[in-house]
Amino acid sequence: MSKKIYIFDTTLRDGEQTPGANLNVDEKLQIARHLELLNVDIIEAGFPFSSPGDFAAVQAVAREIRGPQVAGLARAFEKDIDACWEAVKEATNPRIHTFISTSDIHLQHQMRKGRDEVLEMAVAAVKHATRYTSNVEFSAMDASRSDLAYVAQVFTAVIEAGATTVNFPDTVGYAIPHEFGAMIKYLVEHIPNIHQAVISVHCHNDLGLAVANTLAAIMNGAGQAECTINGLGERAGNASMEEVVMALATRKDLLHYHTDIVTQYIYPASRLVSKLSGVPVQPNKAIVGANAFAHESGIHQDGMLKEASTFEIMTPTTVGIKKSLLVLGKLSGRHAFKNKLQEMGYYLSDEELIRVFRRFKELADLKKKVFDEDLISLVETESIYKSVPEHFRLIELVVLTGTTVKPSATVRLEVGGEVKTLSTFGDGPIDAAFRAITDLARSKCRLLKFAVSSITGGTEALGEVSVRLEEDGHVVTGQGVDPDVVTASARAYINGLNRLHFLQEMGPRSKEKPVKL
Ligand code: MN
Repeated sequence: MSKKIYIFDTTLRDGEQTPGANLNVDEKLQIARHLELLNVDIIEAGFPFSSPGDFAAVQAVAREIRGPQVAGLARAFEKDIDACWEAVKEATNPRIHTFISTSDIHLQHQMRKGRDEVLEMAVAAVKHATRYTSNVEFSAMDASRSDLAYVAQVFTAVIEAGATTVNFPDTVGYAIPHEFGAMIKYLVEHIPNIHQAVISVHCHNDLGLAVANTLAAIMNGAGQAECTINGLGERAGNASMEEVVMALATRKDLLHYHTDIVTQYIYPASRLVSKLSGVPVQPNKAIVGANAFAHESGIHQDGMLKEASTFEIMTPTTVGIKKSLLVLGKLSGRHAFKNKLQEMGYYLSDEELIRVFRRFKELADLKKKVFDEDLISLVETESIYKSVPEHFRLIELVVLTGTTVKPSATVRLEVGGEVKTLSTFGDGPIDAAFRAITDLARSKCRLLKFAVSSITGGTEALGEVSVRLEEDGHVVTGQGVDPDVVTASARAYINGLNRLHFLQEMGPRSKEKPVKL
């Protein structure tokens, strides 16, 4: 019987600390629902004390998600722990995750405290948390650069105080796998009450070793892996959940561990997180990258056609990537379209289906072959993002650009039922289109981020644009898809404006600026 490894997903907490990847409450909930489908053991939903927005998101996740445990992060202060409990208490199985630094570098330069004082604070924090719940995790920040004997002393004391999970983070991504594994072995051998707690690891990817370090830790006694979808996270990110899970699943022959992750939901979760965070997945990313299962060399292709296992260590379907021979074109009917979507795992409401089908027909007119990736993008953009009313609607966009003309754009926009037109110049066609839309919509929002990617290769590929807008403390993501990147950009911008408009109509909300610690 293999040992179960608990998957602690921190996409909504550490993942959200990815520069530019702020998520609002709605977006966090959507991701949490996917994490529930994936069957992760614990969802770390945020850092409740850090901002009212984070508090609201953690609370919303705790209220709705029923399967996984829901954790909130808290510094080793009573007020942090109190706020954390308030936010998580309605979960089926709430967890308080409190932390303090243990490395001399952090103690001397950041906290200006001695080891004894930090030990006392850690024990006091865990004791305070156990007044609310027996499900308490303690993290020793910068553990991998700490004196191991001291970490063992702190862990022994916090387990004595009631911590049921002790987390050993490689906060700065400094460890090397065999070294990190040996550290975990040391803890197992030097903490007398270690059998009363689960050892967890939280690895960062600054040297590209987060997953390798996590596996080394598991092989030496760790029972919980902290990770994120797509490896999002502070700086170079965290251990990627899909890589940890698939390494364990693929090498069962060597690694006698298992997780309860439903791997078929990995790819849809990766897509969703990428879309909502606005952080694209690199094409050569393991497991979920666009090229992860693409075989380019002739010898490899020949082998694949004869027997997939010649060059494939796992099948795309295991992680939810469905390849189908059915390619849709402009003559495909709504029935075939609906079947195709269901085959891909998307069950839309009738209203959504009509909307997505209309966009599909427009697309099929412009593009001969519509690939699975194009459909996924359409479905996600139309069904997720059009869930807000269209106060602003693009009617027509004409751009003029080239090497010898000043770029200009003419936009016809429906604003609350009234059609308005404006032409403007810009530094480029996208800039011109955005200026025209901004004026027509009378928007004061700030563009925080703009990202373009193409979904499939080739010049006929669909352009996918993601924008992040901010106004009055509301931060939203807008998405647009079109074969023309200027049109895709305009659609993304208008989609973002609709989301901002919707939030403003809903009345003032708390500011959502995460505090980075
Ligand atoms: Mn971290």
